Amino acid sequence: MNLRKFLVVGSLFLSLFLIVTLYFSIKLVASSVYNDVSLQRAWQTADRTYASLYQVMRRGWTRAETEQFLANMNRSSSEVESVTVYQGPLVMEQYGPIEQPPITSEAAAVFREGSKRHVRDGDFLRFYYPIIAADECMLCHVNVRPGEVLGVIAVRSNLGHSSAEFSRLMLRTIIPIAIFPVLGAVILGLILHRRIFASIRRFQADVGGLTKVADLSKVELTPGGYPLEEFNILKQETNSLISKLKKIAIDKETLEFEIQLLEKLLITSEVVRDWRDHVKSLLVEINKVMDIPFIFAMFYVEDKVYELEVFWLRAPSPVLKRHFEKTITATIRNDFPDLANCSVEHLVAVSLGKLDGLKEEEIDLHTKKIFLDAPKIGGIVGIGLMTRDALDHTKLLVIEGILTTLLNVIGSVKAIYKYTQQVEYYATRDPQTGLYNQRFFRDLLEQEIARARRNDGVFSVLLIDLDNFKNINDRYGHGFGDSFLLAVAATIRQRERAGDIVARFGGDEFILLMPETGQEHGVGVAERLAEAIRAEQLAAPDGAMAGASATLSLVTFPEHGATITDLLLMAEKIMAKAKDAGKNHLLLPGGDDLLELFRGKSEMAMILKRALDENKIIPYFQPIYDYRRRRIGGHEVLMRIRGANGELIAAQDFIEVAEEMGMINRMDIVLIEKVFERIRLENYQDLIFLNISPRDLVHAEFMAAINRLVEAYGIDPGNIVFEITEREAIRNLNLVEKFVLDLKMKGFRFALDDFGSGFSSYFYIKKFPIDYIKIEGDFVRGMMDNEVDMAVVESIVVLARRIGVKVVSEFVESEEVFRETASLGVDFGQGFFICHPSPTLVHRLPDLPDRP
Ligand code: C2E
Ligand code: CA
Repeated sequence: MNLRKFLVVGSLFLSLFLIVTLYFSIKLVASSVYNDVSLQRAWQTADRTYASLYQVMRRGWTRAETEQFLANMNRSSSEVESVTVYQGPLVMEQYGPIEQPPITSEAAAVFREGSKRHVRDGDFLRFYYPIIAADECMLCHVNVRPGEVLGVIAVRSNLGHSSAEFSRLMLRTIIPIAIFPVLGAVILGLILHRRIFASIRRFQADVGGLTKVADLSKVELTPGGYPLEEFNILKQETNSLISKLKKIAIDKETLEFEIQLLEKLLITSEVVRDWRDHVKSLLVEINKVMDIPFIFAMFYVEDKVYELEVFWLRAPSPVLKRHFEKTITATIRNDFPDLANCSVEHLVAVSLGKLDGLKEEEIDLHTKKIFLDAPKIGGIVGIGLMTRDALDHTKLLVIEGILTTLLNVIGSVKAIYKYTQQVEYYATRDPQTGLYNQRFFRDLLEQEIARARRNDGVFSVLLIDLDNFKNINDRYGHGFGDSFLLAVAATIRQRERAGDIVARFGGDEFILLMPETGQEHGVGVAERLAEAIRAEQLAAPDGAMAGASATLSLVTFPEHGATITDLLLMAEKIMAKAKDAGKNHLLLPGGDDLLELFRGKSEMAMILKRALDENKIIPYFQPIYDYRRRRIGGHEVLMRIRGANGELIAAQDFIEVAEEMGMINRMDIVLIEKVFERIRLENYQDLIFLNISPRDLVHAEFMAAINRLVEAYGIDPGNIVFEITEREAIRNLNLVEKFVLDLKMKGFRFALDDFGSGFSSYFYIKKFPIDYIKIEGDFVRGMMDNEVDMAVVESIVVLARRIGVKVVSEFVESEEVFRETASLGVDFGQGFFICHPSPTLVHRLPDLPDRP
């Protein structure tokens, strides 16, 4: 029932109740008064009747005369209904009995007692009077003494007749009066109705405009003012509810905006590279919900302090620029006294338009800081906010959200940027000597081959091997061994000419690429270098002077090899020959060597061909351990072939030749079919990592074979991870990318193999949609002894986490490395400590240590 109906019905009931109560209470009072009055009147009438009759009797009237008198009286009075005179026994004795009604009990009592009495009989009252003998009565009633009862007069008077009259009268009087309570109730109802609805309407007007959380601050209800006091209580309660809501409520839009910002937090490799563009687009995005003319950021990572960058939405005026540069630096100086003197760069997000007309005092600065110990990162971000925007609770929340997002994005990007630079540096360098590493040297050598081919040019490669380094290491310890290597590296670099490239090739092997240098010239350089190394003397810990000699081999392009494999194979072959012949000298390839090498290569080619023809390609499996789930998470497949004498040949000994001979993709297909067959046979459900050569990917035949095999063996592509390596620079990148995307669309996964070893690792992350990164084993193997290796592994983990890919560490060769990689957050481990490759799929491993 609504309030209006309630009031109408309520006031009707109320007035009805009032009327009825009024009627009955008036009736009760009035009828009691009326009864008293009529009793009084009846009494008086009866008294009068008795008095008249008594007078008549005193005059000595006969009975007939008396009865005549009585009859007249009965007729003339409307109130006296009847008068009866009872004859007493004394009169009856003297005059004889007369005809009279039977004596009632009351009359008999009056005869006995001689006193008057009355009795109520329904609507009637009956009065009984004794007729007492007086002196004068003795004249006629001779047998009587004074005071004796002669008779009884009974007077009957009517009450009922008058009370019905009274009821009618009552009704006639009360009905007009009853209008007043009805009217009163209706008026009261109306007033109440008006007041309640006026209060409700006011309340509606007060809170009706509340559609956003921001409106909460506008809805401070003014005290008082409601027509009904109770609504003021309601208002107080609403006010306190509003102030509670202000603290806890968040706008849906704000939330959506925050979510959008958070979505932008995903830091991809593009973001790392183009992070300034990313911040600019964030600024534009933020300006869709809030006027923020600029944001700024300043960070340090380890000991590197980055410049202060101010991102303006639109180009600021010079005055504005200068002013805020000063204000921001002053703010920074407070928190980071060391950072305040850095350079400042201003960037503009939207090139259209200018921030003209904006005054300094119209903008407030809001900042947020971060200090981290490991990795050591700190910094501050800030936003300039228009002062005209009143800062309510919601706005503060949004600003807090924006600042946190900025801190997160810019801070992470700076940190990753620094680490990627570090990793990229070490990806190309040997951490111990600072020289290029072997893999990078191969890249450069490949480029040099291409250049020499184009120009019909020549170049030489010099391999340098220390003769007695092992002795130095054993005798003076690794610490001194490292210093010795460093000294040799320095010596070689001193003799390096512009354009030469020096790299560390192995433990105590160095390599020198001399562009545009023929054999003759190369020999001169080699001899001077050998001399310098021999002259090198370093004070050992025991005070003795330590020195070493070197064996060298020199090969020249194109004379001794037209490909990288041929050239390096030749250099190593000659080195081995020189060592056999007594070390400490330089050896050059002779005519026989070329023939031998060619024979060796064609031998390998023959072995490969036979392995293909005779089905001697064998898959080996190496378990990949899932650190988190503490079980085998998958296997990497490694190719093995059987040689002529049944010996097993490992991939590292034939893959390069197989690739060069263009046989690798056929061999891979044969191997993959065998693996799929095994998967189906053993109902194997975990991941299978398959090595493929980039050359495989561009073969239409390879793609078709993969599709056919997946179909034929019912393989779930989600369980297959293709490992892409950059062992060989990818030539036709766009084509490879297309095939990778095709396979990805089918649900296959991808891993970047030997990550960190080559120049292009980061480029490949960006280019390919990869799911796993496999950290180059060299970094993992050395990480416990070498800080740089450790830093590289750590930063790859940080990077992978940021871009949402999983990390596998290769070459886990010891328990220490196993524990360390697990605790660094590497997802999977693979290596001889966990399990050597074997011809079977391993389902359970012997107990491995728990993660620390
Ligand atoms: P990779 O992908 O880096 O493979 C890991 C190599 O390291 C394997 O040698 C493996 O036996 C070895 N290894 C595993 N754990 C350890 C460890 O703890 N310490 C050390 N020192 N070595 C470990 P493998 O089988 O001779 O393979 C050499 C390379 O040949 C592979 O390097 C891979 O790039 C390539 N390869 C292997 N199988 C195939 C294949 O089926 N197809 C193609 N296209 N390439 C393959
Ligand atoms: Ca691999």
